[in-house]
Amino acid sequence: MSCERTFVMLKPGTLERRLVGRILERLENCCLKIIALKLMRIPRDLAEEHYAEHRGKDFYPPLIDYITSSPVIVMVIEGENSIAKVRKIAGATNPMEALPGTIRGDFALTTKKNVIHASDSLESAQREINLFFKEEELIDYEVPNEKWIR
Ligand code: ATP
Ligand code: MG
Repeated sequence: MSCERTFVMLKPGTLERRLVGRILERLENCCLKIIALKLMRIPRDLAEEHYAEHRGKDFYPPLIDYITSSPVIVMVIEGENSIAKVRKIAGATNPMEALPGTIRGDFALTTKKNVIHASDSLESAQREINLFFKEEELIDYEVPNEKWIR
């Protein structure tokens, strides 16, 4: 276990379907701490870079179209094991396989428009945080319950 930072994106469907509050509420649980958050429209070249690992796959062009179609919310979340924890809270890529109680299980309707992205490894998290945030945008602070989780 280690205190890690992970990158999270609430995809266009989250804002357009007015799900931001309900999804953020889940990410504030489990000892996770939001240390950066912004609303933005993703430029196409940044979207392509973010999902570069999927270049050449049939779902890549529609995926880029989707995440550039409308604003997103990007975040950095810090906490013990935050990478694996947020992936668990997000649920399986395909909403049909995502368990009830996960964000995708409860809110996503299709794999293509599955409402949330979360980094899948330490390397991806570092790469994605650097793509979307400057170091000075990551804000450290204490949460009152930190003494209960050490
Ligand atoms: P993300 O990277 O967005 O957190 P993930 O890590 O669960 O999702 P990936 O395999 O990295 O899944 O796929 C990236 C995104 O591409 C998925 O979130 C989904 O929107 C889209 N995608 C993946 N597989 C398919 C597919 N078979 N058909 C349509 N879209 C897909
Ligand atoms: Mg992925």
